[in-house]
Amino acid sequence: MSARLIDGRAAAEALRGRLAITADFFRATTGRPAGLATVLVGEDPASAVYVRSKIKATEEAGMHGLHHPLPAETSEAELLALVEQLNRDDAVDGILVQLPLPAQIDAARVIDAISPEKDVDGFHVVNAGRLAVGAEALVPCTPLGCLHLLKSEIGDLSGANAVVIGRSNIVGKPMASLLLGESCTVTIAHSRTRDLPEVCRRADILVAAVGRAEMVRGDWVKPGATVIDVGINRVPGATGKTRLVGDVAFAEAREVAGAITPVPGGVGPMTIAMLLRNTLVAAHRRAGLKAPEDL
Ligand code: NDP
Repeated sequence: MSARLIDGRAAAEALRGRLAITADFFRATTGRPAGLATVLVGEDPASAVYVRSKIKATEEAGMHGLHHPLPAETSEAELLALVEQLNRDDAVDGILVQLPLPAQIDAARVIDAISPEKDVDGFHVVNAGRLAVGAEALVPCTPLGCLHLLKSEIGDLSGANAVVIGRSNIVGKPMASLLLGESCTVTIAHSRTRDLPEVCRRADILVAAVGRAEMVRGDWVKPGATVIDVGINRVPGATGKTRLVGDVAFAEAREVAGAITPVPGGVGPMTIAMLLRNTLVAAHRRAGLKAPEDL
């Protein structure tokens, strides 16, 4: 039987509707819109597309987007000075420095310089630490989006066996922390994991965040499992153009899983929605207001 499709576009659209209402309320209460500052160093085409869509979504949600494009030869000191200025700017609730950065800039130093309460990507060690100890944190957008999809699909995740493939600071580790916070029994798999297919077959919830096209095969999936495919991989298509596939062999996995996210149209749209959500949450906290529970 074919798995249910988890529609990330529909979920993101519903969430963005709620965010727009909250953004209006924030503006009416405080007399100013919530503000997201984006910083793009250089002209990497993929990064430029990502940043443009983030700014567009910010404006559409009734927030203020302040974009700072910088030339590719910007020094680390210049970027740090801009981050400092944005940290001090009261109109800015969230700061997003688009990664990757050019080789002359140490990304970790830049992330560390962002004020943790404006760190809407959730990459700062203070937010990573808060998440790890179960305290109030700004959580990285992609795993937060995955959790939102999982809870909408399953409801209570407590007691489920969850396997996360990937241990990056951006996706794998925060995803595992979030699932642990929901009382799942969590296994984190990575490139050194022995017998990965067998580990995956134990998963009621399987999250693939690897960056290897269609690595997870249908016979790695436990019948009825919920599969979240974070991977975005460009592969040659039939017509000579490229096409996007995930880390999961979708056609095979769909025959075994209970529910599965497609690529594209699964996790991807949730990431931007969660960036808007984090910006609004940061804005509320900075203004001493409580953000609605369902954001
Ligand atoms: P990283 O490259 O930082 O991490 C990949 C992880 O996969 C590592 O932990 C690595 O293990 C593990 N891995 C690599 N090869 C294997 C293997 N053969 N078996 C098991 N584990 C393996 O990637 P990210 O976490 O940043 O991203 C993962 C994927 O998610 C990418 O496709 C990326 O494009 C996508 N992505 C999608 C987003 C979205 O909005 N949908 C947002 C962010 C990322 P080890 O640590 O041992 O090297």
